[in-house]
Amino acid sequence: MTPAILVLSTGGLDTAGRIRDVLPGAETLGLAGRVEEGVDGTFRDMTATVQSLFRAGRPIVGLCAAGILIRMVGPLLNAKRQEAPVLAVAEDGEVVVPLIGGLTGANELAERIAEALGVRAAVTGSGARRFGIILERPPTGWTCANPDDAKRVTADLLAGGAARVEGELPWLSATSLPLDPEGSVVLRSSVLREAPPERGLLFRPRSVVAAVTAPPEKAAGILGRALEEAGIDPTCLALVAVPAGNALPAEEGGVPVRLVDEAASAAEAVLSAAGQGAVLAHEAEGVALAVAPLPVDPLSIGRAPGRVAVVGLGPGPAEWLTPEARAELEGSTDIIGYATYVEMVPAAIRAGRTCHASDNRVELDRARAAMDLAATGRRVAIVSSGDPGIFAMAAALMEVIETPEPGWETVEVAVVPGISAMQAAASRVGAPLGHDFAVISLSDNLKPRSVILRRIEAALETDMAMAFYNPVSRARPWQLGEAMELVAHHRGPDTPVVLGSDVGRPGERMRVVRLGEFEPGMADSRTVILVGSSQTRRLRLGGREFVHTPRRYPEGA
Ligand code: SAH
Repeated sequence: MTPAILVLSTGGLDTAGRIRDVLPGAETLGLAGRVEEGVDGTFRDMTATVQSLFRAGRPIVGLCAAGILIRMVGPLLNAKRQEAPVLAVAEDGEVVVPLIGGLTGANELAERIAEALGVRAAVTGSGARRFGIILERPPTGWTCANPDDAKRVTADLLAGGAARVEGELPWLSATSLPLDPEGSVVLRSSVLREAPPERGLLFRPRSVVAAVTAPPEKAAGILGRALEEAGIDPTCLALVAVPAGNALPAEEGGVPVRLVDEAASAAEAVLSAAGQGAVLAHEAEGVALAVAPLPVDPLSIGRAPGRVAVVGLGPGPAEWLTPEARAELEGSTDIIGYATYVEMVPAAIRAGRTCHASDNRVELDRARAAMDLAATGRRVAIVSSGDPGIFAMAAALMEVIETPEPGWETVEVAVVPGISAMQAAASRVGAPLGHDFAVISLSDNLKPRSVILRRIEAALETDMAMAFYNPVSRARPWQLGEAMELVAHHRGPDTPVVLGSDVGRPGERMRVVRLGEFEPGMADSRTVILVGSSQTRRLRLGGREFVHTPRRYPEGA
């Protein structure tokens, strides 16, 4: 997750720069009007910015008073395990305070920043201070199977107890935990399916390597059974090795898939992948498991399969880019898309990647180019505005992979959803799509006009609200008029029509008009149109107007 460094006045720029140097990829954001130069971006509303960063799980380093940050994130605090790290740093760099997110890395972040600034981090948690570790957060490669017991275990140790180590937990030597072979608290490492110790913690090393040579549709079942029969806990799986030339298995619960050298058998593949000291734990048709003595870094083995992800950017603003989409973009090597959409990707992400901007019309070529690039091992994000599955690139990609080219079978394919234009526009005016609705593209590029009209007619006959995409283009300025004339035959002149143009982008325009006063000139190619049903109505509260399609539909209406 990209950390954000918030700078409120130019006095903090120097400190921000020094922090950025030790947080690769971090983004500096200045308060608009005060700090606009020397930062990656600006923000206006600090509360909204901090809250949206926090919700997205991004680490926040604020060069400001701790109280400011506390007040802003306070209302959002509830789920301890998911809290993003929040740190306050004095503008002059003399004080570093981790405020929230001890379990998600705030202390480590504070230590790293403090070291760079030549000061001490104000870490206050007693376990962390005394023992140099938060037990429920072991180092990379390990997980704690019973984190809820960590508080009690830490309290026991703080109260004078000692810990007995069972199995290999080499990282304990870098802590100051009291260890004693006779200790009453147990700290155990195990890959086996077993319950945590009565008084203690169970740590799971990610030290199991699987090799799969089974066909992809059988792979998940075969792997699951192998783990079960070997009695190995699935959280210990570090990676799935697939000999190059074999087809990829479906993604296995987020475990990385790595391509390794061609091998005669799964057992041979797994042993050479798992490295020295590994033992073969299980072998069956199409699958083998090996256990290494310590956690295995998946990146150190073989190479990643190439990947093509069609990523929905939402309508435009960064707040509407999902954390998943952001992570996918950050993990990509290449970004492909229509030039306008490539530019919608935050500049800080674009900076480190190869961008291939293309014309809007060459969708199939673009999808093929993405697959070809990924077949060489690259991780390609094809960007779409809104949701990529709605009149966009996901369908183009499916069309292309239906007739695969050689080399494509080792490419991972994923679709990352986004907020679609109709949802964004609807949200601005209340609930115009609160009940059943039909979504229709008015573009006749890929379907006959007669089909468009028939579908609109069907939606009208069943009294559904409608969302119209692609209402106009230069090549077909007349068709919106034709569609709306059809609408006017079935719906009264007072039916609310919502026009959202450039929703979420600079120059956004929202209008609500009566069907009777609608004119095609009100829309352009960047407009989404929402047409109400017979039940849709307008309402006012204070000075604001809303549009409401009720959830209840009267009998016989
Ligand atoms: N995949 C996109 C739709 C692509 S089709 C999505 O899910 O939103 C292109 C059409 O989408 C445009 O003609 C327009 O009707 C609509 N559109 C896309 N972005 C928009 C925005 N920010 N505001 C209003 N309409 C938008």
